[in-house]
Amino acid sequence: MPSMSENRPTLEDVSKALDGLNNAIIEHTKWVASWSRSAICNTPMSKEYLSAHSSHQCKFGKWYYSPHHDFLKENLEFIALDKLHNVMHDSVRKIIGKISAGKTLSPREYDKFLSHEVHFATTLAKLRDDLLGLSHSYDYLTGTLNRQAFFQLLSQEHARIKRTSEFCCLMLVDIDHFKKVNDKYGHKVGDIVLRHIADFLNDNLRPYDLTCRYGGEEFLACLPNTTIDIAQTAIERLRENISQTEIAVTDDIKIKITASFGITLLSADEDWSMSIEHADKAMYQAKANGRNRVVVWQEDFEE
Ligand code: GH3
Ligand code: MG
Ligand code: MG
Repeated sequence: MPSMSENRPTLEDVSKALDGLNNAIIEHTKWVASWSRSAICNTPMSKEYLSAHSSHQCKFGKWYYSPHHDFLKENLEFIALDKLHNVMHDSVRKIIGKISAGKTLSPREYDKFLSHEVHFATTLAKLRDDLLGLSHSYDYLTGTLNRQAFFQLLSQEHARIKRTSEFCCLMLVDIDHFKKVNDKYGHKVGDIVLRHIADFLNDNLRPYDLTCRYGGEEFLACLPNTTIDIAQTAIERLRENISQTEIAVTDDIKIKITASFGITLLSADEDWSMSIEHADKAMYQAKANGRNRVVVWQEDFEE
């Protein structure tokens, strides 16, 4: 589950970590197969197995000790792997040293290695589950959070403003006449436009603002520490920028789009779902008023 922090990983960061981990797991399995084959079949051992730095020299170690995003470095399973990996290498070094010296390995010594290996493999599996769970927090087309992950973080933010009486705004944006983009250029081009808008929101909102794909061509954002006045000014600038940007969807097709925005304060006194409804009503008012505009929710929208 992503955090409210500024250093939230992107879907790309999580996918990169998962790919790296999956590859490192395969390399580790090959490493176990390789040294145990040499030990059992009495074939020459690679010097790397006996090196005091073997845990840094194996392919798993090379991945583990390479630079990573903070979200991975802060994961408890990832942190635990350092010691478990070293302990496992130590026990393999002892086994190989004994076999190379022509001595017999006792079942207890082998069992010790096995228990280290099982502990290491279980921790790898838990880390993989964590990363997979995290990757499911995102919308795959746009890389923004999905609704479920966003709602969990929004409910945390709601609890925070209740405690602190700070301001937080919600913004709902819906692309204008998006169906026409699909009808004219096809769904693939429509998808490129959606990704462009998602990237645009990500690049132009602050690092600790949260954005999710709320529906087909609608994005919902939570803007912590923001009054309505500040949100209105910032979102007006965003609207203007979007309307003036030419999106290069292919080498020779550039598209301009506009979007309608609804904003409201996240109300500490009501359930957060009510505030989303208010942002939705404000967005519909922006559509009704002619689109390509920002509307702040007002109580008389209820009637
Ligand atoms: P309005 O200004 O009233 O919002 O008009 P609109 O055409 O944007 O609204 P409408 O709700 O009629 O159409 C939304 C379109 O968004 C219809 C649907 O095909 C398209 N859409 C939804 N999800 C996706 C998607 O993932 N990819 C693409 N390419 N299109 C999508
Ligand atoms: Mg819509
Ligand atoms: Mg629309």
